[in-house]
Amino acid sequence: MLGTRPEVIKLAPFIRALRVAAWAEADVLLTGQHGAMLRPLLDHFELDPVVELGVQRQRGTLTELIASMAAKLDSYFAARRPEGIVVQGDTTSAMAAAICAFSDRLPVFHVEAGLRSFDLEQPFPEEFNRRVISIAATLHFPPAEVSLQHLLSEGIDPERCHVVGNTVIDALLWTLEKRAGRASGFGANSFKILATCHRRESWDGGVDAVCDGLRRLIEQIPHGEILFPVHPNPVVAEVVHRILGGHPRIQLVAPLGYPEFCYAMEDADLIISDSGGVQEEALALGKPTLVTRWKTERPEVLQWDTVRLTGPDADAIVREGTALFEDAARYAASAQAHFPFGRGDSSSRIVEVLEKHFARA
Ligand code: UDP
Repeated sequence: MLGTRPEVIKLAPFIRALRVAAWAEADVLLTGQHGAMLRPLLDHFELDPVVELGVQRQRGTLTELIASMAAKLDSYFAARRPEGIVVQGDTTSAMAAAICAFSDRLPVFHVEAGLRSFDLEQPFPEEFNRRVISIAATLHFPPAEVSLQHLLSEGIDPERCHVVGNTVIDALLWTLEKRAGRASGFGANSFKILATCHRRESWDGGVDAVCDGLRRLIEQIPHGEILFPVHPNPVVAEVVHRILGGHPRIQLVAPLGYPEFCYAMEDADLIISDSGGVQEEALALGKPTLVTRWKTERPEVLQWDTVRLTGPDADAIVREGTALFEDAARYAASAQAHFPFGRGDSSSRIVEVLEKHFARA
């Protein structure tokens, strides 16, 4: 089941692997909550045909989303009688699907299971969502050892947990293999910074601080440029345009298509982001990355110098960014690729586990 951009990206390689498996028949359920924004992504990964659930979002509240998901899934389950549902990560739609499937006695398979920040407010509502999904799931696919340990410490049967790496790496490597010299959107400046900022927990003053940090940082870096795909959320977009708009070396652009975003990560010298997925992708590409959050539920990424937490703190962004630009030794130590989430074989590993599961059932 797919609702948001990261879900499509992270489930696409798995869906592609499942569709060629002779033993399985897979419906791809699209909730519709991100509307037409996902169309190019579905095309990129060649995911058609999909089943459109047509979830309603008039008021935009999470409660409305949950209610609509429940109504749509009730009809879908009755019509198709699936033998299980695969959900990914920690969105509210995935949580709602897990509750509905559990209530209907359908097995739930959870891809990217076991991430925890241990703070229900950060990230909100994702920490709650993923914990609820773990209660409902039949099989759990934690990306790495730390997430496995979280599940075990919650009393989940180890036999039901399979560490498989993260399918985000499968998607990234597949996409870059097909790049064939395509452009990324950066100009000709010599130090390229890719920035994103969209998390709900950044809204309360955090976006202001990040933008303030970026504006000061670019003044420290002659011939530097920032490419900033701005999330369409009006709260975020207003702040970003107010603080960063009009600067000659800052490009504020609409969210990039996923392949273009991968090319931009590949071409960037520095990434500054609050995204979860970007932390994993940047590490696999060996791109120095500043994460503008106080906590990460992916502590594996912090074992090396490639990814650092700065919080949404303008001074820390300027300090760390300037140091990476000025200190070649520090930059070289940070520009190292590491693969705690696998090297692109997660999807096939999940399909193998599911095959065994259904063979036994
Ligand atoms: N991404 C994209 N276009 C953009 C920014 C990000 O395609 O302009 C991709 C990025 O490669 C990553 C995913 O979107 O795989 C991350 O999604 P997001 O930051 O929305 O969510 P999170 O990972 O924080 O849940």
